[in-house]
Amino acid sequence: MASKTHVITRFAPSPTGILHIGNARTALFNWLYARHCGGTFLLRVEDTDRARSTPEAIDAIFDGLSWLGIDWDGDPIFQFARADRHREVAEELLKKGLAYKCYATPQELQEMRDKARAEGRSMTYDGRWRDRDPSEAPAGVDPVIRLKTANEGLTIIEDKVQGSVTFKNTEIDDMVLLRSDGTPTYMLSVVVDDHDMGVTQIIRGDDHLSNAGRQTQLYNAMGWTAPDFAHVPLIHGPDGAKLSKRHGALGVASYRDMGLLPEALCNYLLRLGWSHGDDEIISTEQAIEWFDLGGLNKAPARLDFAKMEYLNGHYIRHTDDGVLADHVEQLMADKGQALSEDQLARVRELMPSLKERAKTLHDLVAGIDFLIAARPIVIDEKVAKPLNQDGAREMLTELAPQLAALNHWTMESVETALRAFADARDLGFGKVAQPLRAALTGTPNAPGIFEVMVALGQAETLARIEDQAVAA
Ligand code: GLU
Repeated sequence: MASKTHVITRFAPSPTGILHIGNARTALFNWLYARHCGGTFLLRVEDTDRARSTPEAIDAIFDGLSWLGIDWDGDPIFQFARADRHREVAEELLKKGLAYKCYATPQELQEMRDKARAEGRSMTYDGRWRDRDPSEAPAGVDPVIRLKTANEGLTIIEDKVQGSVTFKNTEIDDMVLLRSDGTPTYMLSVVVDDHDMGVTQIIRGDDHLSNAGRQTQLYNAMGWTAPDFAHVPLIHGPDGAKLSKRHGALGVASYRDMGLLPEALCNYLLRLGWSHGDDEIISTEQAIEWFDLGGLNKAPARLDFAKMEYLNGHYIRHTDDGVLADHVEQLMADKGQALSEDQLARVRELMPSLKERAKTLHDLVAGIDFLIAARPIVIDEKVAKPLNQDGAREMLTELAPQLAALNHWTMESVETALRAFADARDLGFGKVAQPLRAALTGTPNAPGIFEVMVALGQAETLARIEDQAVAA
């Protein structure tokens, strides 16, 4: 009886800069697929480019993945540490006659390419050392080791996203496996690692599609079964061009800085390249249940910041008030402003109404400005208008003792008190609420008056009224 394969996926970033948003999506897809299948998700840091790999970039990968909630199984694998194993495979191919030493100097190769270009031919390596007798090797030249790739026929990949992709073997050159200094190339390392790690499914950007053709030759030479491939289209910017520096916001960290919740970004990235009917809001649990390769889109998707914020607003509204207050506390601390216990309590109090309107965590922070402002608060000029109308400040002076007399300070009790006060003076409710709102918040962006009063608390409300009122 055929047993079901244990699915193993991997995320294999090169730590040469930020954790790119496109790579984060690749990680997410691989992670979801492994979790969906009850398989294994591995992390491999491709740090073979010693000049460009940095510890900061490695940290950015770990931090970014952790922030997104993407966990990997086992310890991360560092590719550079496996160089001996990569060399061993190249030597084995050499021994079997499936690879050969090439003594062409860089200068000679350049001349070969120049000539090919001038004659309008393909500029790939022409195989000049492929069948040459090693005894002809020039003295003093360290050779590279090249794979003897098939010279005729086709290499066909059944890609889970792109469908059947055909490469003419004449177009696949005898790629270098080991450089003349003995360091393994990317192409060799990737194949050996994926094989040794038992990877069964590769999901990655379609910029690697042509590599898949070349890598397949290497799998064949070693007699290994190649993993299945799924090459997803790259993310495009809002203008339809491939995502580049000019679009800004390339790294996952920028999205965190924009005030996005990780679950909102995951949901957004998931939908950017994968679909499940018309479903837009998909929780991580749901995504794990639904994720399949069939849902991967063949057409590139464009970043849409408005949609991202809309989703984020949804996730904010569905996040626990205490958790959101913690976010606000952290963001304020980042700005060098520690919130007191009292201020935090007020933030929590106001959260249900703050989160109704917020699209980012920064909107929540902006929404608490009035709450934590030091007295006397600064009042926006436009907002001050009703407060500066005849009799308004006197009216507040009369209102203060009525509010001071309240034994309970709740939405209901302050509402009853304000309405009774307005009725007794035959004033429309707005005539009382507007100047009061100005005195208490100073901003046009505050929530409703009752919520404001409850969030501020009785003492602070009275103190702020006093700051603006005049003796009647
Ligand atoms: N390290 C490669 C990159 O960051 C990915 C290699 C692969 O997925 O095969 O683009």
